[in-house]
Amino acid sequence: MKVGVPRQREHESRISIIPAVVKKLVKLGCDVIVESGAGQYAHHLDADYQAAGATIIPPGDASEKLWADCDIVITINPPTTDQASKLKNNAILVGMLNPVGEKELLQSLCDRSITSFSMEYLPRTSRAQSMDVLSSQANLAGYKAVLLAANACPKMFPMMITAAGTIAPAKVFIIGAGVAGLQAIATAKRLGATVEAFDVRAATKEQIMSLGARFVELPTAAQDDASTGGYAKEQTDEERQKQAELMAKHVTGADIVITTAAIFGKDPPMLIDQNVVSDMKNGSVLVDLAASTEHNRGNCEITKPGESFNTDNGVTIIGYENLAGLLSSNASQVYANNMYAFCELFIKEGNINLNMEDDLIAGTMITHNGNITNQRVADATA
Ligand code: NAD
Repeated sequence: MKVGVPRQREHESRISIIPAVVKKLVKLGCDVIVESGAGQYAHHLDADYQAAGATIIPPGDASEKLWADCDIVITINPPTTDQASKLKNNAILVGMLNPVGEKELLQSLCDRSITSFSMEYLPRTSRAQSMDVLSSQANLAGYKAVLLAANACPKMFPMMITAAGTIAPAKVFIIGAGVAGLQAIATAKRLGATVEAFDVRAATKEQIMSLGARFVELPTAAQDDASTGGYAKEQTDEERQKQAELMAKHVTGADIVITTAAIFGKDPPMLIDQNVVSDMKNGSVLVDLAASTEHNRGNCEITKPGESFNTDNGVTIIGYENLAGLLSSNASQVYANNMYAFCELFIKEGNINLNMEDDLIAGTMITHNGNITNQRVADATA
């Protein structure tokens, strides 16, 4: 059975399978086909893949030998519709396929009876943790957000008592304490900053405090994980506005603000408006991890997704997307491990054996036998 590892689209530095995971797939009974140069930006050369047991094909041959020939193609980003149209009927496609934003692709997958798995839809149960690409990438993004902020900030993080005077620690405020936010808290603490954080989910208070940060208490309705299944639910405009007003003094008092607030499948909540940015300190930095070109917004009203810029009052607003991609080596390593753990669910002794009763298979599956199998995707694209 052939497993294909294509080059990713332009500006993507990560790769879906690294050589160490090629070895494991070979042991599972797979022939692994890698498009030449696929791993170069994650610092894996063709020779490394060959040494691990993969076959390298030149980029020009990819459309035939990889997209058309492989039984399973493992990617990170959604393929182009043209690539997907080359897949052989009934092949399997695994990646972060963004099916709601890629309607043409979705249609093309249905037309060819492709069984597609979009890893963003993986149920987030304990058994799924080793396959959870959202977590593995968000963790790295949270770390990198702090380093970008530290680099852009004219102040250092730790307190320092020197002969030339005492330097106060930087004040960091983190909004949203999911996987990325908690890693950002841990990283900022390790660098010596004074950190405070807020999340709408009440359960995060203990997690934030266990990392040594201060939980910002706001007299807003805290969400109970038991009633929301562990995820934040969308606020009303009134609730969001109240939260934004109450948080403003923490934003304007900080040297660094990192926003990570997200609701799966929805626009990021707008939590910092332009007036609040105008009151931020000259030299302060805001990293908007929720910035998304697709949604054309982030958590801050003036974030420009994909860009970094300085405001007239000297605030740096960083809205880069794919921060995990700036750590291409580790991001590819953990993504590839996620992919292997997922593929192990349905590759048995070199054959495909899809157990539709498995909640991880069923939850992640987007198309099968010419139909959209995921109800959320079907509803959102109807
Ligand atoms: P996410 O990226 O979807 O959202 C980031 C954070 O933003 C969340 O903590 C959310 O509560 C918060 N948020 C939303 N609206 C907000 C607002 N208005 N103000 C402040 N914060 C706001 O979250 P995530 O990192 O993917 O994690 C979400 C949940 O999933 C958590 O409960 C986490 O523990 C859980 N999880 C479970 C598993 C697993 O068991 N396999 C794996 C990863 C995450």
